[in-house]
Parts: sequence; structure tokens; C-alpha cells
Amino acid sequence: MALIVQKYGGTSVGTVDKIQGVADKIIATKNAGNDVVVVVSAMSGETNRLIDLTKKIDPNPDPREYDVVIATGEQVTIGLLCIALIKRGCPARSYTGSQVHILTDSAHTKARILDIDEARVRQDLKEGRIVVVAGFQGVDQLGSITTLGRGGSDTTGVALAAALKADECQIYTDVDGVYTTDPRIVPQARRLDRITFEEMLELASLGSKVLQIRSVEFAGKYGVKLRVLHSFQDGPGTLITYDDEEHKMEDPIISGIAFNRDEAKLTVAGVPDKPGIASQILGPIGKANIEVDMIIQNVGVDGLTDFTFTVHRNDYDKALKVLQDTAKKLGAREVSGDNTIVKVSVVGVGMRSHAGIASTMFEALAKEAINIRMISTSEIKISVVVDEKYMELAVRALHDAFHLEKMPTV
Ligand code: ASP
Ligand code: MG
Repeated sequence: MALIVQKYGGTSVGTVDKIQGVADKIIATKNAGNDVVVVVSAMSGETNRLIDLTKKIDPNPDPREYDVVIATGEQVTIGLLCIALIKRGCPARSYTGSQVHILTDSAHTKARILDIDEARVRQDLKEGRIVVVAGFQGVDQLGSITTLGRGGSDTTGVALAAALKADECQIYTDVDGVYTTDPRIVPQARRLDRITFEEMLELASLGSKVLQIRSVEFAGKYGVKLRVLHSFQDGPGTLITYDDEEHKMEDPIISGIAFNRDEAKLTVAGVPDKPGIASQILGPIGKANIEVDMIIQNVGVDGLTDFTFTVHRNDYDKALKVLQDTAKKLGAREVSGDNTIVKVSVVGVGMRSHAGIASTMFEALAKEAINIRMISTSEIKISVVVDEKYMELAVRALHDAFHLEKMPTV
């Protein structure tokens, strides 16, 4: 007998009919001889609706009370789902985050899970019940309700799976797995059978919004076997797992092409090339609470150098002002920027053991006459910044160049 944690997202429980369908699915899993713990999100659109209500009263609502409001969506779905299960003759019990002691820190609206007391869940399972837990919410030391950040139900699912040492954590959603890239851009994009935690983190942070990033970090840290599946279509989904020896041979070198439209870049030209410059430029940016992504500094010529970095597009205007102030202080030649750029990345653990990935990438972009504005690399990814108007073309060209549409040869 296996212990399975199933998490159903907002679209999977978006209507009463869908909730009934989910109940049938859960019962089928139980009847196949498994213990089942279920985590659900709020009905689709509900969390947004609740957020809007708070903002109508105060655009910057008190964080503790904001969490009290936005955590309620999940309480509705756990109850409805249990009503559906019990109506079908299947014993079930629902719990809010605080009832199963999902203990978090007190960072309201983005709290982190510290501990779960899983004794109560185990007792219910022993007595033959399905346990349904509200995603997205927890409770802090003071007994205040907290929430885990948008998409946080994924993290509740993984954390419960870790605490219960579940055999698998299944994330049911409106896609049938993780794809080589966004199928809306490349119709030939292929569902991946497997992907490593590391690759998934790169893909998630680069804009493939299938899972909350934190849930993937959590799963990697605690060794939770994580699978993404479609709620209403049968199929194997995508298994997110370690880069193990057993699979190395059949793993493709490149797993996917990620992209991020939310980028902007800023350059300060003609700054003195001397110790402390990077910190003098980026220090004020950090102090203004602006996150920096790529950073590039030129080799100095005649004692001067250029410095370029990227930020989230929403922070562009703010960053530009801060940088202009800094430039004046440093006596830099000029400040320039561009908020019509995107980042496109090639991701794959196979890069570690294969040369030539960068040249294939640059060649493919050159063939399409796409100018590369910035380049950055890590052990398992190569990212380029290009003009926004070339994004789709770049993604398609790279998907093609790395033959991602074909099945990997075994
Ligand atoms: N309902 C929450 C949200 O929309 C949490 C989740 O769905 O995972 O962000
Ligand atoms: Mg989600």
C-alpha cells in the first residue's frame, strides 16, 4: 500500500461539478489500495476576488488581516470536497492549515513552513479516512493565520508529503506535465517524462509557471517524488526527480527553452574602473528593494568601464532614477536603459558533460539575424537577452536547433 499526496489546483476545483470529478478520482486512487491525503487550492478566481475586496478598503492592507481574508478560499473547497466524498460513501475529514499545525514563520503573505505535526493525519488514515487539507495557509507561533505566497498550495502539498514520507506527491493541474517550452509559442513542444529538480527550478524561475518555485526547492531538499499531472486527462505526467546515474544515458542534453518577458536592462557607462564600483552601483539598487538578475561589467579601457544589469520590468523606472543619482556621484559618462528586452534560456543538466551547447545556441540565433544583447551562463543554463520583438522567433529557433520536438533517443 502506498501513501499518496494529491494536490488539486484552482482550475481543478473551479466548479461544483469539477469538485465532484475530483472526488471520484480520489476514491479511485483509494480503491486501488492507497492511503490518500489531498491538498486543495481555492476555486479558480476566488483568491483574486478576495484580494480585490481587501484592496477596496486599503490598497496596502494590514498583512495579518489580509491573510485572514485571503486564506478563506481554501476553507470552502476542503469542505465541499469532503461533502462530495462522504456523499459517495467515502469517509473523509477536512482540516485548515492551523488544525493540522502547519507551523510557519510570521512573514505574512509569504510565510515559510517550519514544521507540520502529522500525527492527526496519520490517525485519520489509520481509521480509513481520506484527509483533505487546505493549501496555501498555516499558523504562526502566535496563532495568527498566515499564507504562503501565490501558488502556495503546491508547497503545502510537498511539505505534507515530506512530513508523511509519502511515496509520491501528485500535483494535478490544467496542463498534462512540464513541456520543453510553452506550447502556445511552439506547438511542437513536447511533454517531458522526467526533469530534474535543478532544471525545474531554472524553468520555473525563468517563467514556466507550472509549479510554485518554493515547492520545487522543498521537494529537492526533502527528496519528495513530485509528479505534475492533468486533473481530467489520463497520462503519466512529468516526474520531477534527481539527476541519477540510472537515467543519465536516456536524459536529453537540453530539457527545455525558458523565457521571461518581465526584464529590463540598465547601463551606466564610463565609470572609474576601481575597487568598490560594483557595490557603489548596486548597493543603492538593493537598498531600494530592487532585485537584480544578470550583471555584466566590461573589461576596463583607459581606467573606465561600463556596467550593465537587468531588473524586473516593474522596477525599471525606479531603478533608472536610483542609477542616475549614483552616476552623478561617480561622475559617470551616461546612463541608459531599455525596458523592451526579454531573456531566453536553454536549460539542461546534460550541459555539464557536453561541450558546444553555447555555439549551437548562438548559431541558431545568428541564422535568424537575432542580435544578442547580453549573455550569462550557469552550470546548467545559458541565457541571452534579446529585443522583445524577437522572443517568439528565438524560442522557436532554439527549440528547433536542439531538436526538442523529437523523442530523445534511448
Ligand atoms: N489560492 C492560492 C492562490 O491563488 C494558492 C494556490 O492556488 O496555490 O495563489
Ligand atoms: Mg497553482
